[in-house]
Amino acid sequence: MEWMYRSTRDANNRVTASQAVLKGLAEDGGLYVPEELPGFDFPLEQLSGMSYQETAYAVMSLLLTDYTEEELRGCIRSAYDEKFDTPEIAQLRKVGDAFYLELFHGKTIAFKDMALSILPYLMTTAARKNHEDKEIVILTATSGDTGKAALAGFADVPGTRIIVFYPKDGVSAVQEKQMVTQKGANTCVIGIHGNFDDAQSGVKRIFSDEPLKEELAQHGFCFSSANSINIGRLVPQIVYYVYAYGRLLERKELAAGEPMNVVVPTGNFGNILAAFYAKQMGLPVGKLICASNENKVLYDFFETGVYDRNRPFVLTSSPSMDILISSNLERLIYRLAGNDSAKNAALMQSLVQTGSYTITDDMRAAMEDFAGGYATEEETADEIRTLYRETGYVLDTHTAVASHVYHTWKRQNSPSAPAVIASTASPFKFARSVMGAIDGKYASMDDFALIDELARISGVTIPQAVEEIRTAPVLHDKVIDAGEMKQAVREFLGIDSL
Ligand SMILES: *Cc1c(COP(=O)(O)O)cnc(C)c1O
Repeated sequence: MEWMYRSTRDANNRVTASQAVLKGLAEDGGLYVPEELPGFDFPLEQLSGMSYQETAYAVMSLLLTDYTEEELRGCIRSAYDEKFDTPEIAQLRKVGDAFYLELFHGKTIAFKDMALSILPYLMTTAARKNHEDKEIVILTATSGDTGKAALAGFADVPGTRIIVFYPKDGVSAVQEKQMVTQKGANTCVIGIHGNFDDAQSGVKRIFSDEPLKEELAQHGFCFSSANSINIGRLVPQIVYYVYAYGRLLERKELAAGEPMNVVVPTGNFGNILAAFYAKQMGLPVGKLICASNENKVLYDFFETGVYDRNRPFVLTSSPSMDILISSNLERLIYRLAGNDSAKNAALMQSLVQTGSYTITDDMRAAMEDFAGGYATEEETADEIRTLYRETGYVLDTHTAVASHVYHTWKRQNSPSAPAVIASTASPFKFARSVMGAIDGKYASMDDFALIDELARISGVTIPQAVEEIRTAPVLHDKVIDAGEMKQAVREFLGIDSL
């Protein structure tokens, strides 16, 4: 069965899976979604013995239906290999009363590697299949982790260039150093005076700039996206929830068909949407618990049915979740609206014009699978300190937000199902905040001394990704205003201004 993908804002905009991967964002500003979510064509019991790569093929082949078996298996083989520091690719660890699904064993030690290790292969395969001979220019806005993971994936990939925009004052020291030391002649990294929403909105504007697109085409370029607005990011993210279920089966933590609850530290709503898609496809997931930091626009939305971005943007210790416009929520809204693109487009229009929208009671009722929660800065730090003191396990700040939200929810709901908490980054990436939470005495130490100390107290070896940047030279130092993004793109591509 071949599935087509359709824009959330125009039902007539239909493309194949590989075309959706190639385009990233639909021309009408909408996001591509599968017309239907297929059910699993294998019994759940079977998951217990399956490797990550086998699980990836079983899940992705159901959704990326115009890729041949050989193509898809080739992409999976190239992506999930020794780049990861564990053969399991993702590790499920029981700590205290929850299972932490460690998604940070890839090259850049954040969960973005799970999808961005495979996206370049999916994209270059898609270009070949669709006879796209233009050079693909990947435009990316990052809250810190997508940027590096996309750079690592696309650096020196023939036929591609990659431009990353990050909020200059909105990422951790390690995140920034990882990006600005990136090698590769086809890479470009630029800081923005502004926050992540400014960067993401700027990228979306460039995507829908038709004259610019024409001009690029004349110079042999086309745009695509490595953000989770690209369906090629979401589909690989479904895999690890299915894989986690297999591991729980294997360890007899549950029987086939019994539910697990899933807790996700959320920013752009991509990771948790993948869990929702997994559930729609037949994975026994009970609650989808959406955890926010102090930018709790999603928590308020789940509580009230009103999405309202009109509020101060808070810089927190979990910068990858400092987002007020969660792009992928549009894919959920579209589904809640009965796959009605006109209804969805009207709500998104309202978001652009007034900064808010309100969903109907029927749509709210259809969200019962979700629960929202949030953690303040203090609660996040407490969670890191408490878990470390009780178990010796060190969480990163993002995972700590989720862990706190889970423990609060658990006290109120006494669930019997096991909980899988998406662990989205290595604590080494946020060493300053993590060590500060554990003990105030670390405040005066420099970043790399803190990293050495973190390795010592946690007994975890310093990841290669961190060792690499200790002495690496800065190769990108450009910082611009958000209004200058378009010009920066032209300059990097060597296209003169009008
Ligand atoms: C990107 C990111 C998130 C948020 O994920 P979304 O898919 O944007 O919701 C959470 N934690 C970390 C460490 C991240 O890099």
